[in-house]
Amino acid sequence: MKHLSHPEIWFVCGSQHLYGPGPLKQVAAHAQAVAAALAASKRLPLRTVCKALLTTPDEITNVMLAANTDANCAGLILWMHTFSPAKMWIRGLNLVRKPFLHLHTQFNRDLPWGTIDMDFMNLNQAAHGDREAGFIHTRMRLGRKVVVGHWADPEVQDRIGAWMRAARAWHDWQGAKFARFGDNMRQVAVTEGDKVSAEMKLGFATNGYGVGDLVAKVDAVKDSAITALCAEYEQAYKVVPALKKGGARHDELRYSARLELGLEGFLAEGGFKGFTDTFEDLHGLRQLPGMATQRLMAAGYGFGGEGDWKTAALVRAMKVMGAGLEGGTSFMEDYTYHLAPRGHQVLGAHMLEICPSIAAGRPAAEIHPLGIGGKEDPVRLVFDAPAGPALNASLVDLGNRFRLVVNEVTAVKPPKLPKLPVARAVWECSPDFKTACAAWILAGGAHHTGYSYAVTAEMLEDFATIAGIELVAITAGTRLADFKQTLRNNEVYYHLAQGIRA
Ligand code: MN
Repeated sequence: MKHLSHPEIWFVCGSQHLYGPGPLKQVAAHAQAVAAALAASKRLPLRTVCKALLTTPDEITNVMLAANTDANCAGLILWMHTFSPAKMWIRGLNLVRKPFLHLHTQFNRDLPWGTIDMDFMNLNQAAHGDREAGFIHTRMRLGRKVVVGHWADPEVQDRIGAWMRAARAWHDWQGAKFARFGDNMRQVAVTEGDKVSAEMKLGFATNGYGVGDLVAKVDAVKDSAITALCAEYEQAYKVVPALKKGGARHDELRYSARLELGLEGFLAEGGFKGFTDTFEDLHGLRQLPGMATQRLMAAGYGFGGEGDWKTAALVRAMKVMGAGLEGGTSFMEDYTYHLAPRGHQVLGAHMLEICPSIAAGRPAAEIHPLGIGGKEDPVRLVFDAPAGPALNASLVDLGNRFRLVVNEVTAVKPPKLPKLPVARAVWECSPDFKTACAAWILAGGAHHTGYSYAVTAEMLEDFATIAGIELVAITAGTRLADFKQTLRNNEVYYHLAQGIRA
């Protein structure tokens, strides 16, 4: 995956000097053991490093400052093995800018009922030490994830793993760059937004580039590179005969390869993690990039159609979250509905740009007219997305804040669609179609989404917590009346919590 980094998570254990050097040595050894177990766990995508046993305000502050400036630190796990008076933490917690998870665990799983004495009681105090920590986190209004249970419990590790994936995506966004070729599809509202606010709040920069800058790159691609890439296509996909070498339309496949190599060169040179384009500004390009964009998404780039930079950034973040897991992530659009009484379904697709990381089988490379934009016929990969649990996520700008809208769905095997010349997914919404769509529309969720089989609602919830943005999840338990009230409550909460710095 392009530009995927492997940051570390710092494991930090809190205590105090009241206990004396002997017990503190044991506390430190326990912290090392827990961190080592997390570091070795296959359930956790990032390496955990035991950073410190912290017992004074200065030590705590220094570790927090070091975390801020260490580019390889994506976040911290805090655990109070013993009682660590929380006023010691105020200065450090005021300064820390990295995400943190509060792990409420204890070293021993079982209590040794027959031998337990006051030494044991004094050493194993997370049950009250972590409550003291939780108070100061809440008192300071710090967003964090709290995970409860024994550190070796697989369920506990999975919850830490979900947070690590969110922390990794957040780490990936900080300083990330997204290229916007052309501007927006004219008159469209939901793909607009405040790019200044996004950079302040979310850490990534979106800047516009004239499509002419891309055309120069595309035109400069060498014929030999195009020939090699076309040969790769014939290996990887079911290329229709007309597009194959010697076929009547092979030149159009070659142009698609030229687009891919030109785009890739532009993105690589600028260090971009994603891009947008729009069919309303393709001056100098013969086709809207179809297969080119699909393949770049599969390589890890975020993408949003029609200038949708928020979705491009979100797709990138979701690809980072899902890295290494089964199931892919794509740009998606709610396209059209099947409203049969026995089961309402959504047909998701786009004009062209669905990522083959969600293909159920070997995609076909085909060429068809686009019917919009007045350009030559674009080459595209056509495939079905598989059945299984998935979700859609949408990042919208409400003017005073960003809202992340999530809907859990169940994808089904698409029926035969012999006339549909684009990649597609068919899904059913949770809790049901009518509730889900009403909730989505009331929340202002876009028609464009990040669609994923790998990312979970928990990861996105953790991500929103880290970002300090609003999350509304539409899941099996959603009731419309409660959902509407949540939206109303959130209007007030985020207005007050954020102040005037939006
Ligand atoms: Mn679209």
